[in-house]
Amino acid sequence: MTLQPLGLDPSLCFIAGRWQAAARGETLTLTDPSTGEALCEIARGQTEDMDRAVAAAQMALDGEWGRSTAVERGRVLARLGQLVLDQMEALAALEARDVGKPLKQARVDVIALARYMEFYAGAADKVHGSTIPYMDGYTVYTLRQAHGVTGHIVPWNYPMQIIGRSVGAALAMGNAAVLKPAEEACLTALAFAELARQAGLPDGALNVVPGLGTEAGAALAAHPGVHHISFTGSVGVGRSVQQAAGQNVVPVTLELGGKSPQLVFEDADIDAALPFLVNAGIQNAGQTCSAASRILVQRGVYDQVVSRMADRYRGLQVGPAMHDLDVGPLISARQKDIVEGYLAQGADLEIAGAAILPDDLPENGTYVPPTLFAGASENHRLAQEEIFGPVQVVIPFDDEAEALSIANGTAYGLVASVWTREGARQMRLAKALRAGQVFLNNYGAGGGVELPFGGTGLSGHGREKGFEALYGFSTLKTVAALHG
Ligand code: NAD
Repeated sequence: MTLQPLGLDPSLCFIAGRWQAAARGETLTLTDPSTGEALCEIARGQTEDMDRAVAAAQMALDGEWGRSTAVERGRVLARLGQLVLDQMEALAALEARDVGKPLKQARVDVIALARYMEFYAGAADKVHGSTIPYMDGYTVYTLRQAHGVTGHIVPWNYPMQIIGRSVGAALAMGNAAVLKPAEEACLTALAFAELARQAGLPDGALNVVPGLGTEAGAALAAHPGVHHISFTGSVGVGRSVQQAAGQNVVPVTLELGGKSPQLVFEDADIDAALPFLVNAGIQNAGQTCSAASRILVQRGVYDQVVSRMADRYRGLQVGPAMHDLDVGPLISARQKDIVEGYLAQGADLEIAGAAILPDDLPENGTYVPPTLFAGASENHRLAQEEIFGPVQVVIPFDDEAEALSIANGTAYGLVASVWTREGARQMRLAKALRAGQVFLNNYGAGGGVELPFGGTGLSGHGREKGFEALYGFSTLKTVAALHG
Protein backbone atom coordinates (compact mmCIF):
# COMPACT_ATOMS: atom_id res chain seq x y z
CA MET A 1 0.00 0.00 0.00
CA THR A 2 1.23 3.47 -0.77
CA LEU A 3 0.09 6.45 1.22
CA GLN A 4 -2.00 7.94 -1.54
CA PRO A 5 -1.89 10.57 -2.85
CA LEU A 6 1.52 11.16 -1.28
CA GLY A 7 2.93 8.03 -2.86
CA LEU A 8 4.82 6.95 0.26
CA ASP A 9 5.90 3.47 1.20
CA PRO A 10 4.55 3.04 4.78
CA SER A 11 7.13 0.39 5.61
CA LEU A 12 9.87 3.02 5.91
CA CYS A 13 11.16 5.32 8.64
CA PHE A 14 11.78 9.01 8.04
CA ILE A 15 15.26 9.87 9.26
CA ALA A 16 17.49 12.80 8.32
CA GLY A 17 15.03 13.90 5.65
CA ARG A 18 15.12 10.53 3.84
CA TRP A 19 12.77 7.58 3.69
CA GLN A 20 14.67 4.47 4.72
CA ALA A 21 14.01 0.94 5.92
CA ALA A 22 14.57 0.05 9.58
CA ALA A 23 18.18 -1.05 10.07
CA ARG A 24 17.21 -4.68 10.66
CA GLY A 25 14.77 -4.60 7.73
CA GLU A 26 11.90 -5.89 9.88
CA THR A 27 8.27 -4.81 9.63
CA LEU A 28 5.02 -5.00 11.62
CA THR A 29 1.53 -5.44 10.19
CA LEU A 30 -1.07 -2.72 10.67
CA THR A 31 -4.65 -3.94 10.95
CA ASP A 32 -7.78 -2.17 9.74
CA PRO A 33 -10.00 -2.21 12.86
CA SER A 34 -13.16 -1.89 10.77
CA THR A 35 -12.57 -5.26 9.10
CA GLY A 36 -9.79 -6.98 11.04
CA GLU A 37 -7.87 -7.32 7.78
CA ALA A 38 -4.22 -6.42 7.27
CA LEU A 39 -3.81 -2.85 6.06
CA CYS A 40 -0.09 -2.62 5.32
CA GLU A 41 3.38 -3.23 6.71
CA ILE A 42 5.14 -0.58 8.80
CA ALA A 43 8.76 -0.38 9.89
CA ARG A 44 9.75 -2.12 13.10
CA GLY A 45 12.23 0.46 14.35
CA GLN A 46 14.76 -0.58 16.98
CA THR A 47 17.51 0.96 19.07
CA GLU A 48 19.82 1.48 16.11
CA ASP A 49 17.09 3.39 14.24
CA MET A 50 16.54 5.60 17.26
CA ASP A 51 20.29 6.20 17.41
CA ARG A 52 20.22 7.34 13.78
CA ALA A 53 17.15 9.51 14.34
CA VAL A 54 18.57 11.20 17.45
CA ALA A 55 21.89 11.80 15.67
CA ALA A 56 20.03 13.31 12.70
CA ALA A 57 18.08 15.60 15.03
CA GLN A 58 21.29 16.72 16.71
CA MET A 59 22.84 17.40 13.30
CA ALA A 60 19.86 19.54 12.39
CA LEU A 61 20.38 21.55 15.58
CA ASP A 62 24.06 21.94 14.79
CA GLY A 63 23.20 23.08 11.27
CA GLU A 64 20.59 25.08 9.38
CA TRP A 65 17.68 24.34 11.73
CA GLY A 66 19.64 25.33 14.82
CA ARG A 67 20.48 28.68 13.21
CA SER A 68 16.93 29.36 12.01
CA THR A 69 15.11 32.41 13.31
CA ALA A 70 11.71 32.20 14.95
CA VAL A 71 10.21 33.91 11.89
CA GLU A 72 11.67 31.27 9.58
CA ARG A 73 10.38 28.46 11.76
CA GLY A 74 6.96 30.06 11.79
CA ARG A 75 6.95 30.24 8.00
CA VAL A 76 7.75 26.53 7.65
CA LEU A 77 4.94 25.66 10.05
CA ALA A 78 2.53 27.92 8.17
CA ARG A 79 3.38 26.17 4.88
CA LEU A 80 2.96 22.82 6.60
CA GLY A 81 -0.46 23.83 7.91
CA GLN A 82 -1.56 24.72 4.39
CA LEU A 83 -0.26 21.43 2.97
CA VAL A 84 -2.23 19.57 5.65
CA LEU A 85 -5.39 21.41 4.63
CA ASP A 86 -4.68 20.69 0.95
CA GLN A 87 -4.56 16.97 1.79
CA MET A 88 -7.68 17.07 3.96
CA GLU A 89 -9.59 14.19 2.37
CA ALA A 90 -6.53 11.96 1.89
CA LEU A 91 -5.42 12.40 5.49
CA ALA A 92 -8.94 11.89 6.83
CA ALA A 93 -9.33 8.67 4.87
CA LEU A 94 -5.95 7.42 6.07
CA GLU A 95 -6.78 8.15 9.71
CA ALA A 96 -10.26 6.68 9.40
CA ARG A 97 -8.94 3.37 8.07
CA ASP A 98 -5.96 3.21 10.40
CA VAL A 99 -7.70 4.19 13.66
CA GLY A 100 -11.23 3.06 12.75
CA LYS A 101 -12.75 6.45 13.44
CA PRO A 102 -15.70 7.71 11.37
CA LEU A 103 -14.60 10.00 8.54
CA LYS A 104 -16.25 13.09 9.97
CA GLN A 105 -14.27 12.66 13.20
CA ALA A 106 -11.08 12.11 11.21
CA ARG A 107 -11.73 15.35 9.32
CA VAL A 108 -11.94 17.20 12.63
CA ASP A 109 -8.50 15.79 13.46
CA VAL A 110 -7.05 16.99 10.14
CA ILE A 111 -8.37 20.48 10.79
CA ALA A 112 -6.91 20.38 14.30
CA LEU A 113 -3.51 19.33 12.92
CA ALA A 114 -3.59 22.26 10.49
CA ARG A 115 -4.73 24.60 13.28
CA TYR A 116 -1.82 23.53 15.48
CA MET A 117 0.57 24.39 12.66
CA GLU A 118 -1.15 27.74 12.12
CA PHE A 119 -1.22 28.53 15.83
CA TYR A 120 2.43 27.66 16.43
CA ALA A 121 3.46 29.36 13.18
CA GLY A 122 2.01 32.58 14.50
CA ALA A 123 3.32 32.06 18.03
CA ALA A 124 6.91 31.14 17.15
CA ASP A 125 8.19 34.72 17.13
CA LYS A 126 6.11 35.90 20.07
CA VAL A 127 7.88 34.07 22.85
CA HIS A 128 10.41 36.26 24.52
CA GLY A 129 12.28 36.68 27.75
CA SER A 130 12.22 39.62 30.13
CA THR A 131 14.55 42.10 31.75
CA ILE A 132 14.95 41.91 35.50
CA PRO A 133 15.77 44.89 37.73
CA TYR A 134 18.86 43.92 39.72
CA MET A 135 21.81 45.52 41.51
CA ASP A 136 23.35 48.78 40.40
CA GLY A 137 25.66 48.32 37.41
CA TYR A 138 23.93 45.19 36.10
CA THR A 139 21.66 44.44 33.21
CA VAL A 140 19.84 41.13 33.60
CA TYR A 141 17.62 39.46 31.05
CA THR A 142 16.23 36.03 30.28
CA LEU A 143 16.36 34.01 27.07
CA ARG A 144 13.88 31.30 26.07
CA GLN A 145 15.79 28.58 24.27
CA ALA A 146 15.06 25.18 22.77
CA HIS A 147 15.78 22.09 24.86
CA GLY A 148 17.53 20.48 21.90
CA VAL A 149 16.35 17.05 20.74
CA THR A 150 12.77 16.34 21.82
CA GLY A 151 11.27 12.84 21.90
CA HIS A 152 7.55 12.46 21.18
CA ILE A 153 5.83 9.17 22.00
CA VAL A 154 2.20 9.25 20.91
CA PRO A 155 -0.75 6.84 21.10
CA TRP A 156 -3.09 5.58 18.39
CA ASN A 157 -6.33 7.31 19.33
CA TYR A 158 -5.72 10.83 17.98
CA PRO A 159 -2.41 10.62 16.12
CA MET A 160 -2.83 13.84 14.16
CA GLN A 161 -4.05 15.94 17.08
CA ILE A 162 -1.36 14.74 19.44
CA ILE A 163 1.43 15.09 16.88
CA GLY A 164 0.16 18.57 16.06
CA ARG A 165 0.14 19.80 19.61
CA SER A 166 3.48 18.41 20.69
CA VAL A 167 5.64 18.41 17.56
CA GLY A 168 4.17 21.76 16.44
CA ALA A 169 5.12 23.49 19.70
CA ALA A 170 8.52 21.79 19.84
CA LEU A 171 9.45 22.87 16.29
CA ALA A 172 8.19 26.41 16.87
CA MET A 173 10.70 26.75 19.72
CA GLY A 174 13.54 25.42 17.56
CA ASN A 175 13.83 21.89 18.92
CA ALA A 176 14.52 18.97 16.59
CA ALA A 177 11.95 16.21 17.06
CA VAL A 178 12.06 12.43 17.04
CA LEU A 179 8.56 10.99 16.82
CA LYS A 180 7.59 7.44 17.80
CA PRO A 181 4.02 6.87 16.65
CA ALA A 182 1.93 3.98 17.96
CA GLU A 183 2.31 0.55 16.40
CA GLU A 184 -1.50 0.30 16.06
CA ALA A 185 -1.87 3.46 13.94
CA CYS A 186 0.93 5.49 12.45
CA LEU A 187 0.05 6.29 8.83
CA THR A 188 -0.78 9.96 9.33
CA ALA A 189 2.47 10.39 11.28
CA LEU A 190 4.30 9.24 8.15
CA ALA A 191 2.19 11.45 5.91
CA PHE A 192 2.89 14.38 8.23
CA ALA A 193 6.64 13.80 7.89
CA GLU A 194 6.36 13.84 4.10
CA LEU A 195 4.34 17.05 4.18
CA ALA A 196 6.93 18.60 6.52
CA ARG A 197 9.62 17.70 4.00
CA GLN A 198 7.57 19.29 1.22
CA ALA A 199 7.05 22.39 3.39
CA GLY A 200 10.82 22.87 3.52
CA LEU A 201 11.57 21.67 7.05
CA PRO A 202 15.35 21.08 7.06
CA ASP A 203 16.60 17.47 7.13
CA GLY A 204 16.67 16.00 10.61
CA ALA A 205 14.41 18.61 12.23
CA LEU A 206 11.68 15.94 12.28
CA ASN A 207 12.33 12.19 12.30
CA VAL A 208 9.71 9.47 12.52
CA VAL A 209 10.55 5.95 13.67
CA PRO A 210 7.58 3.57 13.92
CA GLY A 211 7.91 0.40 15.95
CA LEU A 212 6.87 -1.35 19.11
CA GLY A 213 6.63 0.57 22.36
CA THR A 214 8.88 -1.87 24.17
CA GLU A 215 11.52 -1.51 21.45
CA ALA A 216 11.50 1.82 19.60
CA GLY A 217 9.53 3.63 22.33
CA ALA A 218 11.71 2.41 25.18
CA ALA A 219 14.85 3.21 23.17
CA LEU A 220 13.68 6.79 22.63
CA ALA A 221 12.64 7.33 26.27
CA ALA A 222 16.03 6.15 27.54
CA HIS A 223 18.17 7.77 24.86
CA PRO A 224 20.95 9.91 26.38
CA GLY A 225 20.89 12.22 23.34
CA VAL A 226 17.28 13.31 24.00
CA HIS A 227 16.73 16.48 26.04
CA HIS A 228 12.97 16.43 26.62
CA ILE A 229 10.31 13.73 26.36
CA SER A 230 6.65 14.29 25.61
CA PHE A 231 4.65 11.14 26.28
CA THR A 232 0.94 10.62 25.69
CA GLY A 233 -0.47 7.24 26.61
CA SER A 234 -1.27 4.95 29.48
CA VAL A 235 -0.36 5.45 33.13
CA GLY A 236 1.79 2.32 33.32
CA VAL A 237 3.93 3.22 30.34
CA GLY A 238 4.04 6.85 31.50
CA ARG A 239 5.67 5.70 34.72
CA SER A 240 8.33 3.72 32.86
CA VAL A 241 9.01 6.61 30.46
CA GLN A 242 9.44 8.98 33.39
CA GLN A 243 11.83 6.55 35.06
CA ALA A 244 13.85 6.14 31.88
CA ALA A 245 14.05 9.89 31.34
CA GLY A 246 14.98 10.27 35.00
CA GLN A 247 18.16 8.31 34.38
CA ASN A 248 19.18 11.06 31.96
CA VAL A 249 17.67 13.78 34.18
CA VAL A 250 15.61 15.28 31.38
CA PRO A 251 12.16 16.86 31.73
CA VAL A 252 9.08 14.87 30.83
CA THR A 253 5.55 15.88 29.95
CA LEU A 254 3.05 13.12 30.71
CA GLU A 255 -0.42 13.24 29.15
CA LEU A 256 -2.11 10.16 30.57
CA GLY A 257 -5.63 8.92 31.01
CA GLY A 258 -8.71 10.21 32.75
CA LYS A 259 -12.09 9.50 34.29
CA SER A 260 -13.54 12.88 33.55
CA PRO A 261 -16.90 13.94 35.00
CA GLN A 262 -19.69 16.18 33.79
CA LEU A 263 -21.79 17.60 36.66
CA VAL A 264 -25.41 18.33 35.81
CA PHE A 265 -27.37 20.42 38.31
CA GLU A 266 -31.14 20.78 38.50
CA ASP A 267 -31.05 24.34 37.15
CA ALA A 268 -29.03 23.35 34.06
CA ASP A 269 -30.21 23.81 30.50
CA ILE A 270 -30.66 20.09 29.90
CA ASP A 271 -31.48 20.52 26.20
CA ALA A 272 -28.15 22.25 25.67
CA ALA A 273 -26.28 19.73 27.79
CA LEU A 274 -27.57 16.53 26.19
CA PRO A 275 -25.48 16.43 23.01
CA PHE A 276 -22.35 17.21 25.02
CA LEU A 277 -23.14 14.61 27.65
CA VAL A 278 -23.35 11.79 25.12
CA ASN A 279 -20.87 12.90 22.44
CA ALA A 280 -18.08 13.39 24.97
CA GLY A 281 -18.49 9.72 25.87
CA ILE A 282 -18.86 8.08 22.48
CA GLN A 283 -16.59 10.27 20.31
CA ASN A 284 -13.85 8.09 18.78
CA ALA A 285 -15.68 5.08 20.29
CA GLY A 286 -14.87 6.41 23.76
CA GLN A 287 -11.14 6.05 23.13
CA THR A 288 -10.43 9.60 24.21
CA CYS A 289 -8.25 10.49 27.18
CA SER A 290 -10.64 13.30 28.05
CA ALA A 291 -13.81 11.28 27.41
CA ALA A 292 -16.54 12.28 29.83
CA SER A 293 -17.02 8.77 31.15
CA ARG A 294 -18.82 9.82 34.35
CA ILE A 295 -22.06 11.79 34.27
CA LEU A 296 -23.03 13.09 37.70
CA VAL A 297 -26.66 14.19 37.86
CA GLN A 298 -28.59 15.91 40.65
CA ARG A 299 -31.52 13.79 41.77
CA GLY A 300 -34.25 16.24 40.71
CA VAL A 301 -33.34 15.82 37.03
CA TYR A 302 -31.72 12.39 37.27
CA ASP A 303 -34.53 10.34 35.68
CA GLN A 304 -35.00 12.86 32.89
CA VAL A 305 -31.28 12.99 32.02
CA VAL A 306 -30.85 9.20 32.15
CA SER A 307 -33.87 8.55 29.97
CA ARG A 308 -32.93 11.22 27.40
CA MET A 309 -29.32 10.03 27.25
CA ALA A 310 -30.57 6.45 26.90
CA ASP A 311 -32.74 7.48 23.92
CA ARG A 312 -29.64 8.85 22.24
CA TYR A 313 -27.69 5.69 22.94
CA ARG A 314 -30.43 3.55 21.38
CA GLY A 315 -30.25 5.72 18.25
CA LEU A 316 -26.47 5.48 17.80
CA GLN A 317 -25.33 3.86 14.58
CA VAL A 318 -22.22 1.70 14.70
CA GLY A 319 -20.24 0.61 11.66
CA PRO A 320 -17.03 0.71 9.64
CA ALA A 321 -15.12 3.97 9.71
CA MET A 322 -15.62 4.63 6.01
CA HIS A 323 -19.43 4.39 6.43
CA ASP A 324 -19.08 7.53 8.55
CA LEU A 325 -21.68 6.68 11.20
CA ASP A 326 -21.71 7.72 14.87
CA VAL A 327 -19.34 5.11 16.27
CA GLY A 328 -16.66 2.99 14.65
CA PRO A 329 -14.79 -0.06 15.91
CA LEU A 330 -12.29 -0.10 18.75
CA ILE A 331 -8.64 0.00 17.76
CA SER A 332 -7.85 -3.68 18.28
CA ALA A 333 -9.06 -7.08 19.42
CA ARG A 334 -7.11 -6.48 22.64
CA GLN A 335 -8.97 -3.24 23.30
CA LYS A 336 -12.24 -5.00 22.52
CA ASP A 337 -11.46 -7.67 25.13
CA ILE A 338 -10.70 -4.99 27.71
CA VAL A 339 -13.95 -3.10 27.04
CA GLU A 340 -16.04 -6.29 26.99
CA GLY A 341 -14.50 -7.15 30.35
CA TYR A 342 -15.76 -3.84 31.72
CA LEU A 343 -19.20 -4.38 30.20
CA ALA A 344 -19.35 -7.67 32.09
CA GLN A 345 -18.27 -5.87 35.28
CA GLY A 346 -21.38 -3.72 34.94
CA ALA A 347 -23.71 -6.71 35.37
CA ASP A 348 -24.89 -5.38 38.75
CA LEU A 349 -25.81 -2.00 37.26
CA GLU A 350 -28.83 -0.90 35.28
CA ILE A 351 -28.21 -0.70 31.52
CA ALA A 352 -30.17 2.46 30.82
CA GLY A 353 -29.60 2.30 27.07
CA ALA A 354 -27.38 0.58 24.56
CA ALA A 355 -26.93 0.73 20.80
CA ILE A 356 -27.78 -2.38 18.83
CA LEU A 357 -24.97 -3.64 16.63
CA PRO A 358 -26.20 -4.31 13.07
CA ASP A 359 -26.03 -7.91 11.79
CA ASP A 360 -23.92 -7.06 8.76
CA LEU A 361 -20.84 -5.74 10.56
CA PRO A 362 -17.57 -7.18 9.21
CA GLU A 363 -16.98 -10.38 11.18
CA ASN A 364 -13.49 -9.51 12.34
CA GLY A 365 -14.11 -5.83 13.02
CA THR A 366 -13.63 -4.88 16.67
CA TYR A 367 -17.04 -3.47 17.56
CA VAL A 368 -18.74 -3.18 20.93
CA PRO A 369 -22.20 -1.76 21.61
CA PRO A 370 -22.08 1.75 23.10
CA THR A 371 -23.60 1.30 26.54
CA LEU A 372 -24.97 3.67 29.17
CA PHE A 373 -25.02 2.37 32.74
CA ALA A 374 -27.09 4.11 35.40
CA GLY A 375 -27.34 4.05 39.16
CA ALA A 376 -23.64 3.45 39.75
CA SER A 377 -22.13 4.17 43.11
CA GLU A 378 -19.06 6.37 42.98
CA ASN A 379 -16.83 3.46 44.04
CA HIS A 380 -17.97 1.00 41.39
CA ARG A 381 -15.12 -0.15 39.13
CA LEU A 382 -16.89 1.33 36.12
CA ALA A 383 -17.01 4.67 37.93
CA GLN A 384 -13.34 4.58 38.94
CA GLU A 385 -11.30 3.03 36.13
CA GLU A 386 -10.62 4.32 32.65
CA ILE A 387 -12.50 2.04 30.25
CA PHE A 388 -11.42 3.55 26.92
CA GLY A 389 -14.54 2.41 25.12
CA PRO A 390 -18.03 3.84 24.38
CA VAL A 391 -19.27 3.31 27.92
CA GLN A 392 -20.58 5.94 30.34
CA VAL A 393 -21.89 5.64 33.87
CA VAL A 394 -24.46 7.96 35.40
CA ILE A 395 -24.14 8.65 39.13
CA PRO A 396 -26.78 10.50 41.16
CA PHE A 397 -25.97 13.21 43.72
CA ASP A 398 -27.92 15.33 46.19
CA ASP A 399 -26.07 18.60 46.51
CA GLU A 400 -23.01 20.57 45.39
CA ALA A 401 -20.77 19.22 48.14
CA GLU A 402 -21.55 15.63 47.24
CA ALA A 403 -21.10 16.34 43.52
CA LEU A 404 -17.66 17.80 44.16
CA SER A 405 -16.62 14.93 46.38
CA ILE A 406 -17.64 12.34 43.76
CA ALA A 407 -16.09 14.35 40.93
CA ASN A 408 -12.75 14.57 42.74
CA GLY A 409 -13.00 11.00 44.01
CA THR A 410 -10.82 9.21 41.45
CA ALA A 411 -7.07 9.03 41.04
CA TYR A 412 -7.33 11.03 37.80
CA GLY A 413 -7.79 14.74 37.11
CA LEU A 414 -7.91 15.66 33.44
CA VAL A 415 -11.12 17.45 32.41
CA ALA A 416 -14.43 18.30 34.11
CA SER A 417 -17.53 20.24 33.22
CA VAL A 418 -20.32 21.88 35.19
CA TRP A 419 -23.82 22.43 33.88
CA THR A 420 -25.60 25.06 35.95
CA ARG A 421 -27.02 28.54 35.46
CA GLU A 422 -25.80 29.72 38.87
CA GLY A 423 -22.73 31.88 38.38
CA ALA A 424 -21.40 31.59 41.93
CA ARG A 425 -21.56 27.80 41.76
CA GLN A 426 -19.73 27.86 38.42
CA MET A 427 -16.90 29.88 39.99
CA ARG A 428 -16.72 27.74 43.15
CA LEU A 429 -16.57 24.48 41.25
CA ALA A 430 -14.18 25.74 38.59
CA LYS A 431 -11.74 26.39 41.43
CA ALA A 432 -12.40 23.25 43.43
CA LEU A 433 -12.54 20.60 40.70
CA ARG A 434 -9.37 18.56 40.40
CA ALA A 435 -8.73 18.83 36.67
CA GLY A 436 -6.47 20.50 34.15
CA GLN A 437 -9.43 21.92 32.24
CA VAL A 438 -12.90 22.86 33.48
CA PHE A 439 -15.70 23.67 31.06
CA LEU A 440 -18.73 25.65 32.19
CA ASN A 441 -21.94 24.79 30.33
CA ASN A 442 -20.03 22.99 27.59
CA TYR A 443 -17.51 20.20 27.24
CA GLY A 444 -14.48 19.98 24.99
CA ALA A 445 -13.24 16.43 24.73
CA GLY A 446 -9.91 16.74 22.99
CA GLY A 447 -10.70 20.14 21.55
CA GLY A 448 -9.09 23.51 21.95
CA VAL A 449 -5.87 24.04 20.02
CA GLU A 450 -5.46 27.33 21.88
CA LEU A 451 -6.34 25.97 25.32
CA PRO A 452 -3.61 24.67 27.65
CA PHE A 453 -4.26 21.01 28.38
CA GLY A 454 -2.94 18.41 30.79
CA GLY A 455 -3.74 16.74 34.04
CA THR A 456 -3.10 16.25 37.70
CA GLY A 457 -2.76 12.99 39.62
CA LEU A 458 -2.67 9.92 37.39
CA SER A 459 -3.66 12.08 34.43
CA GLY A 460 -0.08 13.30 34.28
CA HIS A 461 1.79 16.56 34.52
CA GLY A 462 2.94 19.36 32.27
CA ARG A 463 0.80 21.30 29.82
CA GLU A 464 0.54 21.06 26.06
CA LYS A 465 -1.57 23.04 23.59
CA GLY A 466 -1.94 26.79 23.45
CA PHE A 467 0.82 29.23 24.22
CA GLU A 468 1.67 27.41 27.45
CA ALA A 469 3.21 24.51 25.51
CA LEU A 470 5.90 26.83 24.19
CA TYR A 471 7.22 27.24 27.73
CA GLY A 472 7.28 23.49 28.22
CA PHE A 473 9.20 22.99 25.00
CA SER A 474 11.84 25.55 25.93
CA THR A 475 14.15 26.32 28.80
CA LEU A 476 14.89 29.65 30.45
CA LYS A 477 18.40 31.09 30.64
CA THR A 478 19.23 34.10 32.83
CA VAL A 479 21.97 36.42 31.61
CA ALA A 480 23.48 38.82 34.15
CA ALA A 481 25.86 41.46 32.75
CA LEU A 482 27.97 43.57 35.12
CA HIS A 483 28.93 46.68 33.24
CA GLY A 484 29.31 49.20 36.03
P1 NAD B 1 0.31 3.06 25.60
O1 NAD B 1 0.87 3.70 26.79
O2 NAD B 1 0.27 1.59 25.54
O3 NAD B 1 1.05 3.53 24.28
C1 NAD B 1 1.30 4.89 23.99
C2 NAD B 1 2.60 4.99 23.23
O4 NAD B 1 3.66 4.53 24.07
C3 NAD B 1 2.67 4.14 21.96
O5 NAD B 1 3.40 4.82 20.97
C4 NAD B 1 3.47 2.92 22.42
O6 NAD B 1 4.17 2.29 21.39
C5 NAD B 1 4.43 3.55 23.40
N1 NAD B 1 4.98 2.62 24.38
C6 NAD B 1 4.45 1.46 24.84
N2 NAD B 1 5.29 0.87 25.73
C7 NAD B 1 6.36 1.69 25.83
C8 NAD B 1 7.55 1.65 26.61
N3 NAD B 1 7.80 0.65 27.46
N4 NAD B 1 8.43 2.68 26.51
C9 NAD B 1 8.18 3.72 25.69
N5 NAD B 1 7.08 3.79 24.91
C10 NAD B 1 6.18 2.80 24.98
O7 NAD B 1 -1.13 3.69 25.52
P2 NAD B 1 -2.25 3.35 24.49
O8 NAD B 1 -2.95 2.13 24.93
O9 NAD B 1 -1.69 3.37 23.12
O10 NAD B 1 -3.19 4.63 24.64
C11 NAD B 1 -4.23 4.66 25.53
C12 NAD B 1 -3.89 5.48 26.75
O11 NAD B 1 -3.42 6.76 26.37
C13 NAD B 1 -5.09 5.74 27.58
O12 NAD B 1 -4.80 5.54 28.93
C14 NAD B 1 -5.41 7.20 27.34
O13 NAD B 1 -6.10 7.82 28.35
C15 NAD B 1 -4.07 7.77 27.11
N6 NAD B 1 -4.16 8.99 26.32
C16 NAD B 1 -3.95 10.19 26.94
C17 NAD B 1 -4.06 11.37 26.23
C18 NAD B 1 -3.84 12.70 26.89
O14 NAD B 1 -3.63 13.68 26.20
N7 NAD B 1 -3.88 12.81 28.20
C19 NAD B 1 -4.36 11.34 24.88
C20 NAD B 1 -4.57 10.11 24.28
C21 NAD B 1 -4.45 8.94 25.02
